[in-house]
Amino acid sequence: MKFLLFLVVVLIGAWFWRQRSLKRDRQKAQAKPSTPSGQHIMLSCSVCGVHVPDNEAVAGQRGAYCSAEHRRQAEDL
Ligand SMILES: [Zn+2]
Repeated sequence: MKFLLFLVVVLIGAWFWRQRSLKRDRQKAQAKPSTPSGQHIMLSCSVCGVHVPDNEAVAGQRGAYCSAEHRRQAEDL
């Protein structure tokens, strides 16, 4: 009988531990941004044609450029 009581206590403890870790995993998943990082739209430089991610591209009046130097070359003429 003592063994059964011990088993029940262990099972309840395991259940509580599992609930807590599931909750932690869910919170961790929610903390992550919905869009996976490292996925950017690739833009082609109007001067040299190099593809650069949109977060690194230099925006100009005539398009996107790989660097400020190429934007200057294309637009300061
Ligand atoms: Zn370029």
